[in-house]
Amino acid sequence: MYKNKIISLCLAFTLIFSCSFLTISSEKAYSASVQDRINQATQNKKAALDKINKSKEQKAEIMSKKEKIDHEIDLLQAELDEIDAIINEAEQGIAQKEQEIKDYELKIESNDADFRKRLRAMDENNSASYIDILLEAKSLSDFFIRLETVREITEHDQAVINEMIALKKGVEVIRNELVLKRDEQKEARSLVSDKKSVLDAKVAEQNAIISKINNDINLQEKLYEESKKLEEQLKNSIRSSLSTSSSAGSKYKGGKFVFPAPSMIYMSSEYGYRTHPVTGVKYKFHSGVDLAAPQGTNVLAADAGTVRMAGWNGGYGYCVIIDHGDGVATLYGHNSKLLVSAGQSVSRGQVIAKIGSTGVSTGPHLHFEVLINGSTTNPAPYIGL
Ligand SMILES: [Zn+2]
Repeated sequence: MYKNKIISLCLAFTLIFSCSFLTISSEKAYSASVQDRINQATQNKKAALDKINKSKEQKAEIMSKKEKIDHEIDLLQAELDEIDAIINEAEQGIAQKEQEIKDYELKIESNDADFRKRLRAMDENNSASYIDILLEAKSLSDFFIRLETVREITEHDQAVINEMIALKKGVEVIRNELVLKRDEQKEARSLVSDKKSVLDAKVAEQNAIISKINNDINLQEKLYEESKKLEEQLKNSIRSSLSTSSSAGSKYKGGKFVFPAPSMIYMSSEYGYRTHPVTGVKYKFHSGVDLAAPQGTNVLAADAGTVRMAGWNGGYGYCVIIDHGDGVATLYGHNSKLLVSAGQSVSRGQVIAKIGSTGVSTGPHLHFEVLINGSTTNPAPYIGL
């Protein structure tokens, strides 16, 4: 008996709950799905940014390695230039010495020819050979004089030729030394050149990697921009949907809101034009009021409504937007913690978040906005300031 009563009560409750749930479920699903898509876009944006940063790090690492190798290549090139200069100098020396050798050879040849000519001339003038000259001696002493004369002439000529041969040999020694030096340098050059080729190949490889990383960065930057655009569009779609909203149950009757930051110490910034406290840009329009309050204290829903967004919202940091119906909405920025999620119904005065300083903010405070048909208005009168 008693048991049955409990069961039927439960059934009744279940029915009532499912019915009321059904009436708000489509609204909830819409907000939740937009919020999901915003979160996804935000996540994609962050992932792209992470990849870009990682790629840039990789690139910087390779660039610094490449710089070192480039420096080594420069040193090797300087070495090659030096070796080339030595080889060049040696080759010039070799050419010069070879010319000298040739000159000596010519001289030796012509001296030899002269010598032979003189010998022949001697023959011709006297119409006789050396032997005849000697045989024509009139006495033994005359024979020895003649012999001595012939000997002196031939010895002198031979000495001149021998000296030239000796000089030529000296030049040949120098030439051979130069050839040896040149060949040694050529060997050294081929070693240095091999080393340089290896480094050149390494640099080419690194250049290929860098160009691949650059392509990756370009791609991720595109993805980042696309995600950012989508995120903005979705956030705008929430804002514009606020202007046409007539949902969220009870209609807004224009009464005063619950003060959203009960632990407020002071109002740190008014609605309207001012100097931005972070960027320092003058006359920047401030779209809400800043209520300075201790970190982690309660942020209350100004009135009953449906949460349109609860998540990261750029400069607003962790942000909540509540749709109160009839085109009235409130925004709560810079929270340290969010206690509601998109699509959820909230009651007037419900704790929806904790005071923080997320996004573009100088210290813990609530940035509170009142939106009428999607446009901001001075929130001060709405919260009794
Ligand atoms: Zn503010």
